[in-house]
Amino acid sequence: MNEKQTYKLTAVGLGPGDPELISVKGLKALQNAEEIFFPASKVDGDQINSHSLKIISTYELKGKLTPLHIPMTGKNREEMYDAAYELIKSSVLEGKKVAVVSEGELLFYSTFGYILRRAQRDAITCDCIPGIPAFAHAGSAGQVSIVEGEESFKVLAKPATFEQIEKELQEEQSLVVMKMKFLKGWPEFLRKQNRNFVYVEKLGTTEEFVCSNPDEMEGREIPYFSLILFTR
Ligand code: SAH
Repeated sequence: MNEKQTYKLTAVGLGPGDPELISVKGLKALQNAEEIFFPASKVDGDQINSHSLKIISTYELKGKLTPLHIPMTGKNREEMYDAAYELIKSSVLEGKKVAVVSEGELLFYSTFGYILRRAQRDAITCDCIPGIPAFAHAGSAGQVSIVEGEESFKVLAKPATFEQIEKELQEEQSLVVMKMKFLKGWPEFLRKQNRNFVYVEKLGTTEEFVCSNPDEMEGREIPYFSLILFTR
């Protein structure tokens, strides 16, 4: 533990979107925190875009809520993570009970991974409370097994081409595709594949959408918070 540290830095995975899918342990940690840092893709005065904030603001938390401005895309990522980490670090070293949240699972394509590395470098000890990753919720939402028995599965994030996905599908194993909005033409692609799949948007929110038929995806604008789970 860093000698100036009084409390461990607590990290909480919030799950995909439904506030009731935070773990009991995670919620207790949030209720106990004096300051809670959350990632936000846009911070402009009172205007804050943050999926995490929507989840945590359904609870009455006594801690101060502080945004970490992390745009979805853009240059100078390392500098951005440095700045976010410095905010968290100074609060921890002031002796506050600090929590940092991440949507879904904490250490799965998540900002917190970058924060954790920096904390470890400074010997700031953390308590990591995992969250439900969105792909796990997708299996439940579509009521399909993700994998069984001796099966394996693979995760692709932001594939550049449909050919890449097609190649993985030949492996005859389950496949999760995250950050899929960057490819256009999903319904045509899915019709061609003839594979069972579950497509989900904004799981756990009031705008949740789940389907397993390419026709139902026709004409939909694919949002950032969407993924597809191909099963065997
Ligand atoms: N830490 C998160 C992943 C963040 S990366 C997790 O454990 O799931 C962001 C990607 O996750 C999105 O592009 C999308 O593919 C997926 N995702 C996260 N939350 C989602 C949700 N509520 N509904 C659908 N997809 C989601």
